[in-house]
Amino acid sequence: MNSPDKNIQLFKTIFEQTPISTQIFIPNGTTVLVNKAWEDLWNVKFEQLGNYNILKDQQLVHSGTMPYIKKGFKGEHISIPPIYYDPAKTVPIDGVTPRWLSARMYPIKDEKSKITHLVLQHEDITERKKSEENLKQSQERLRATWESASDAMALSDDQGIVLDANSAYLKLYGYNKNEIIGQPFSIIFPQEHRKSADKQYQQTFHGKLNEAVVEAKVVSKQGEEHMVESRYSFLTNKDIRIAMLSVIRDISEQKKSEVALRESEERLRLALEAGNIGVWDWDIKQNLLTWTDNVYKIHDVDKNNFKLTFNNFKRLIHPEDQKLVLSSIDRTLKKGKPFNIEFRIIDRNQNIRWVSTSAVLIKDKTNTPVRMLGATSEITQQKQIEQDKSDFLSMAAHELKTPITSMKMFVEILQKELQSTSHKKASYYASRIKDQTNRLTELTSELLDVSRIETGKLQLNLEAFDISKLIKDTVESVQGTTKHLLKFKEMPNTSVLADKYRIYQVIVNLLTNAIKYSPVDKTVEISLKKNKRNIEVCIKDQGIGISKQDLSKIFEKLYQVSDSKEKTYPGLGLGLYITKDIIQRHKGKIWVESKKGVGSSFYFTLPLT
Ligand code: ADP
Repeated sequence: MNSPDKNIQLFKTIFEQTPISTQIFIPNGTTVLVNKAWEDLWNVKFEQLGNYNILKDQQLVHSGTMPYIKKGFKGEHISIPPIYYDPAKTVPIDGVTPRWLSARMYPIKDEKSKITHLVLQHEDITERKKSEENLKQSQERLRATWESASDAMALSDDQGIVLDANSAYLKLYGYNKNEIIGQPFSIIFPQEHRKSADKQYQQTFHGKLNEAVVEAKVVSKQGEEHMVESRYSFLTNKDIRIAMLSVIRDISEQKKSEVALRESEERLRLALEAGNIGVWDWDIKQNLLTWTDNVYKIHDVDKNNFKLTFNNFKRLIHPEDQKLVLSSIDRTLKKGKPFNIEFRIIDRNQNIRWVSTSAVLIKDKTNTPVRMLGATSEITQQKQIEQDKSDFLSMAAHELKTPITSMKMFVEILQKELQSTSHKKASYYASRIKDQTNRLTELTSELLDVSRIETGKLQLNLEAFDISKLIKDTVESVQGTTKHLLKFKEMPNTSVLADKYRIYQVIVNLLTNAIKYSPVDKTVEISLKKNKRNIEVCIKDQGIGISKQDLSKIFEKLYQVSDSKEKTYPGLGLGLYITKDIIQRHKGKIWVESKKGVGSSFYFTLPLT
């Protein structure tokens, strides 16, 4: 048996060693005893404290706890809720770090229930508070991630009952949280599929189905159908599955575009087939060429006995056109611009065929060419028709030339003969015949020029001459034939090396167009501009102008604006085609700026000598 002294010794040791800060007062508030935990907590020795009265001094008391302590002194058992002690603000004692403390207070009474002592115990709960705080924060972060995820997510139990769903999920299916939580997950399936969806869920949950991704048609509360893709994972506890997490993505748009793509590919295939268009694809990196069946057909080679390489393709091209094809490909590779060329190929019976090919270059993200894609079609027949037409025009023009020349000659004789007579009317008719014969001469010479251009026989006889002077002379002679005012200001030192007759033809053509397409009272202005290398000629009228859609076409062969008003103007639509060819043969440029109803300005440039 222990003696009372020994017991006291024992309790003292326990009191001293207990990790809970303990402070004992007598009822007037004076501290009579503290333990080591107390000294450690407040970083103060009991001896230093002197006669410390908590009710009076309040030095080591957080103001928030004082009301509790006062109650405690009345004899109540008090539990003081956790309070944050910041020594900077509350307990100005060196070495005391901020901390969370919880406290309690109770009285010790004698046999007559009189309070003899009061005990105040503080417990440092900073660590517990910290981990509570961390847990709270990570839960909040998790919830925020869950709620803000763009994918719809839901958690469901082993029976398929929805436990939680995020905002994206509620948005996708048009329910609010209360309507979906606690419901079977199959609520999002069309009525007729719900049973099988439930069955599938059970099989998936219990590991009988292992598909990680499932595509399904679902329906929102408002009846909208969606195609979704779901991915599953499981929440487990000791290897037992307790809930399933579904991550759902709406793939309706993707599905729609897949269908649209398939349809448009099919339409394209049909169109290519119907148009006998072949498509080729050159993988530049691997130097691999692919042809569709139509390309083999166009080149008249047997798909099974033809090794498709670039060199073998080259052999099919007419030797005279190989350079054109290779340089076009080369230019596109270097400059990246698409090409469109016509060239001849030789079929297996050594017949010449014409093909037209357009190609585009495809580059990767680093701007490196990776593929060239092209479309080829045979144009032999069109070429033949064009050739026949051109042959006919050339032949007709040639055949017309002789009779027109003699008509012109005879009408001039007739005019002279009539001048000395009194047949005024006959003289007038003869002059009309002469005008029309001149017109016929112009038309036939236009036709002959076109035929020369097309057969490559339009030759240039270059000589150095002053273009300003040529324009001045031309303007003067044209002014004699029209009521329009022609304005021109000469310029010195404008010598060009060109075919004088052809440039005269260009100026006449542009001038007569300007006159033809503007009212009589308007002015036509011709101006010159010079830089180091070129001279630029501008012929500006205040006439009917040209609409935007016609602007790009007026230089084409036989193109005439089909406006009902323009139909009344005479012409074949060949003048600008010839003009453009002449300027381009001189390595010059020609273009037009125009506004309907305001007027047109035709420009051309020629290199200065
Ligand atoms: P045409 O012999 O028919 O005039 P062109 O080749 O010279 O043929 O011109 C082609 C078409 O361009 C004309 O039919 C006309 O519609 C239009 N055009 C040419 N010049 C002008 C102009 N100065 N003003 C308005 N339209 C013009």
